[in-house]
Amino acid sequence: MIGKLTSPSTIKYIMGKYDFKFSKGLGQNFLINEMVVQDIVDGADIDENDCVLEIGPGIGVMTYEMASRAKQVTAIEIDNYLLPVLDETLSAFDNVTIVNNDVLKVNLEELIQEHFNGQPPKVVANLPYYITTPIVMKLLEDELPISDIVVMVQKEVADRMMAKPSTKTYGALSVAVQYYSEPEIVTVVPPSSFMPQPKVSSSVIRLRVRKRDDLKLTDKKVFFNTIKDAFGKRRKTLLNCLSSGVLKISKDDLKLIFEASGIDGIRRGETLSIEEFATLSNEICKYIK
Ligand code: SAM
Repeated sequence: MIGKLTSPSTIKYIMGKYDFKFSKGLGQNFLINEMVVQDIVDGADIDENDCVLEIGPGIGVMTYEMASRAKQVTAIEIDNYLLPVLDETLSAFDNVTIVNNDVLKVNLEELIQEHFNGQPPKVVANLPYYITTPIVMKLLEDELPISDIVVMVQKEVADRMMAKPSTKTYGALSVAVQYYSEPEIVTVVPPSSFMPQPKVSSSVIRLRVRKRDDLKLTDKKVFFNTIKDAFGKRRKTLLNCLSSGVLKISKDDLKLIFEASGIDGIRRGETLSIEEFATLSNEICKYIK
């Protein structure tokens, strides 16, 4: 009988029994803090009506807790060595499916369709940090049918996702995340909550996915290119950034665009709200083919 999955002695027992070794490359830092596991599952508000798509279950510490609360959990795990472990740790549940694959290679739209019968799942993930932001952005940008993303990220990344205009951490990531979702910090997690311990502090962030029809964008691509250009050179004015970035708008046109949108061209991109980026990009659309 396996003990508590957050206990270091249980993890050591599993490592011995299944000849399992932590892989640094797969970012295998397992949670050993029961309170953090509870905070994540509470933060995701999981109940018996919910479907959950977990990415990176490890030995199943969060999967176990979520399976006992949710209707259905599907978890994508890349590491073959963890499959027999998950078989054992999750043997009490008949509402869990493990998909042995690389999340970067899975067709997530198809998987969601196949596993959740049309119900938008909540995505819960604790992944290697170098793939977390690309995965979160892919989930949001592809506008997949999901209701929430609850994810462990490096603390600084969570701060950037939450940042408001005119702060040091506000940037293209803040605008993109806040365009697609309403972010909220669930909890801050110190390195001591993991085995082995990572070097950095982490935060769990919940993104409530939403549609921003209120912004009435003429062209989403132009909106994101405006943001990319505006933050391209942080210390330069909007006039400079937008005349030399991917949009390459002439300074004469920009003067008319700034006038019509009521946004001063000598401002820096980091001072603009999402609403102002929308107004500006809609005006830009009138000048580009
Ligand atoms: N959820 C567990 C926990 O909190 O203790 C494990 C988290 S550990 C930080 C990351 C997990 O993601 C590992 O189980 C690792 O094998 C898995 N993983 C890493 N890269 C992956 C990928 N590309 N696709 C799917 N799973 C991946």
